[in-house]
Amino acid sequence: MTDQDLLLVFDDTVTRADVDGWLRHLRAAGTPARVYRLGGSHVLPVSGVDSAELLAAVPSLPPPTRRVPRGGAAWLACRQLRPGGTEVTLGPATIGDGSVAVIAGPCAVETPEQMTATAALVAEHGAVALRGGVFKPRTSPHSFQGLGFGGLDLLVEARKRTGLPFVTEVVDVEHVKRLADVVDGFQIGARNMQNFALLSAVGQTGLPVVLKRGFGCTVEETLAAGEYLLFEGNDQVVLCERGIRTFEPSARFTLDLTAVALWKQRTHLPVIVDPSHSGGRPELVEPLSLAAIAAGADALLIDVHVQPEQALCDADQALRPDQFAGLMTRLAGAAAGLGRSLQTL
Ligand code: PEP
Ligand code: MN
Repeated sequence: MTDQDLLLVFDDTVTRADVDGWLRHLRAAGTPARVYRLGGSHVLPVSGVDSAELLAAVPSLPPPTRRVPRGGAAWLACRQLRPGGTEVTLGPATIGDGSVAVIAGPCAVETPEQMTATAALVAEHGAVALRGGVFKPRTSPHSFQGLGFGGLDLLVEARKRTGLPFVTEVVDVEHVKRLADVVDGFQIGARNMQNFALLSAVGQTGLPVVLKRGFGCTVEETLAAGEYLLFEGNDQVVLCERGIRTFEPSARFTLDLTAVALWKQRTHLPVIVDPSHSGGRPELVEPLSLAAIAAGADALLIDVHVQPEQALCDADQALRPDQFAGLMTRLAGAAAGLGRSLQTL
């Protein structure tokens, strides 16, 4: 990176009209430029500009609030743009405010009884949001594929009863608009992390997104996938570490806590860890959860089922009610030891 590659950051005290003034000023000097929105701020990348004069304050315009070096494929996600970090607002819950937020629920929405009972249970023990898939990307076409749009009503009902917001996975661009009318947040699954059309469509909704790392994708590729959402002006993005495929067969995937630490250093986006899909076994969920919050994770995404042995999807990894209750108690203690607290609504 040279000092010619810069991001001009205009905070929310600078109007869009004035930012556009800077855009015209740079374009008039032959610098191709475009304005990006990051929450209430605007970002104007400039490259190849070596004239201090060009970047000096224009008398009629407020100066950029900050200048940040630009580098890499995911510069909208870079930590320096927002050193204090991004808070993602999921209904009444917040991810990235320093507390530990727990999102929990079944892997798949199955029946009214299952969803109602599981939602009540996770709410009782302190989850701040629900999870539950209605479109399931399954390895085999013979496996349960989810209830589809019909299952959404069960999530809506669970939200009504518990007051908890929910996230659910979107697998198809064609579904985005219809889901956006109902969901509090989207989940983009590991298998779709680099489905760029889906990322763009979901980004355009402006709704919160839990973006799961592809299990064969690097830390940087995940950041670049998040960048597709930021590119659309949506900064409500949570990066999810859910385990990667390695040579190690003793767990379903290998939880990569290095990714958590690196993302916390490199990006302003909050990070969630899914110990259920990574470990693939209930007895791994607690140790991986504790390690995740120690590594700096802002949130946890946990599979819980009132009767795991009957689950239609990922039955081997869901926590039973008593296991979830115990986990939440011990998480609260661990969070306190880290100078943090479990988020409550
Ligand atoms: C899920 O969370 O239900 C899921 C399918 O996870 P992943 O995309 O991480 O495999
Ligand atoms: Mn699953």
